[in-house]
Amino acid sequence: MTAHIHQTNDKSDNAEVLAQPRQAQDRVVSPTVEEQHRAQEEAVIPYWSTPEISGPGIHDGDTDRGSSSHARCLPSRFLDNVKCWHSDEEHHPGEVKSTASGRQRIGDYALLVGKRVGAMAVFIAALAVLVIPIHSLIELRTFDFAAMKFDWKTDPRDHLVPVDPEYSDFNVLLDGHAHTTISDGRLTPEQLVEYSIAQGFNAIIVTDHNTVAGGLRAETYAKSKYPGRFIVVPGMEYSNCRIHMNFININTTVTVGNKEFPSDDNIKQAIAKVHELGGLVIVNHIPWSNHSLDRIQAPRLVNHPSVQSLVDWGVDGFEIANQATFDLPTYQYMVSQRTTTHRTTVDPPAPLIIMTGSDVHTPGSAYAWTILKVQNLTRDSIVREIRHARTSFLFDPTGNHANGRPNYSARYLALAPLSELAQYFESFVDRYQGQYSFHGTHCRRDIVDVHGKSIGCFVAYFIAAAILFELLYKMLSYMWLQARRLCSRIIRRSE
Ligand SMILES: [Zn+2]
Ligand SMILES: [Zn+2]
Repeated sequence: MTAHIHQTNDKSDNAEVLAQPRQAQDRVVSPTVEEQHRAQEEAVIPYWSTPEISGPGIHDGDTDRGSSSHARCLPSRFLDNVKCWHSDEEHHPGEVKSTASGRQRIGDYALLVGKRVGAMAVFIAALAVLVIPIHSLIELRTFDFAAMKFDWKTDPRDHLVPVDPEYSDFNVLLDGHAHTTISDGRLTPEQLVEYSIAQGFNAIIVTDHNTVAGGLRAETYAKSKYPGRFIVVPGMEYSNCRIHMNFININTTVTVGNKEFPSDDNIKQAIAKVHELGGLVIVNHIPWSNHSLDRIQAPRLVNHPSVQSLVDWGVDGFEIANQATFDLPTYQYMVSQRTTTHRTTVDPPAPLIIMTGSDVHTPGSAYAWTILKVQNLTRDSIVREIRHARTSFLFDPTGNHANGRPNYSARYLALAPLSELAQYFESFVDRYQGQYSFHGTHCRRDIVDVHGKSIGCFVAYFIAAAILFELLYKMLSYMWLQARRLCSRIIRRSE
């Protein structure tokens, strides 16, 4: 094989070459031994080290990448000169080509850098399009509660006394508000029973959102596994954009009127319906319902009825402790009304019921236990005591430091690298939807904030990173080239 060296030159060299006789220009330039050594030395430079000026078919700055001839162009100086070594005769043997102008080489280089940055930008955009739906559409739960064991037990009587000393002789510790996987809880109805026993309860009211199914299933389980030792009272949490109320001691789901935004009449009808079924109505977590959502600057629920209105409409009581939150104003109202306001739906008329609830969705600490005393531990006897408002409670806002830790979900661990990445892209836009209605919608109009400054800074960071990458890339390529040359020369001289 005859190798031909096309030595690139600057403009003065080209002028000199062009001035030579035609025969001289056409001569085949056979490489000298020194040139062959240099060619071998440069041929070991990896292709990736200078892709913008080397590669098959590229010669003398020409961007003829589709050429079928096998030419290799190697930098003889960093971004300064190009040497093409052809392995066949197709490229006019002996032709001495001029190098591209410096401006053209810079242009070609800038074009390649632009393509590379563009490809990275497309990749990042595609990644965002891929991962955001994963995060928003797939309900990715961090923990797997299915394998949790509740083989421990706490007893609040160890360190708590009733708020009302009159009820110090109690034998029922009741959780008045709990959820299961039938709605948005994480524990199955069966697990909820086991968990509640571990938390020191011997009775619970299961109140899944807008369904009694979880309560009925938990009751069946408790009856078979803990007959006479643990009582489940079925119920549901009437949940919408105006109010959350527990309907307790009912076996039928109650739905009345507008689901998301019930009117005053709808609420009154629902209360009457529950009473008709033999149940009781407890208004839940007023602090949570009226809590002001910062971004929306309005209460969480829309147009929540006042305590006095609800009393007038016939509710039976109020939840004055929900998780660690104690509703002091409502509690003070109930205490003040205890001797004057009596529910006439009860015989004899009774004051408003004071109720507490863990509102458990995921297992954690317990803060409040409704207490009462019964002769026999049955559903009827417990409901009778509640109906007559013969209850008090234990309360500890620090919680009982319950045991038990769920394992991470294998699905979460597998998808988290994508899902968590989605949160990065989602941080560019904030969307405030307000409280979920529990009927597939939200209670307030969306507020969408696009953080243009963050997006602009992200683009700037990306460009800065690309420039830094190019600089490092070129610097390392040059250092690699020089090191290989030096090594080759040392080896050659030692031979
Ligand atoms: Zn609620
Ligand atoms: Zn609830």
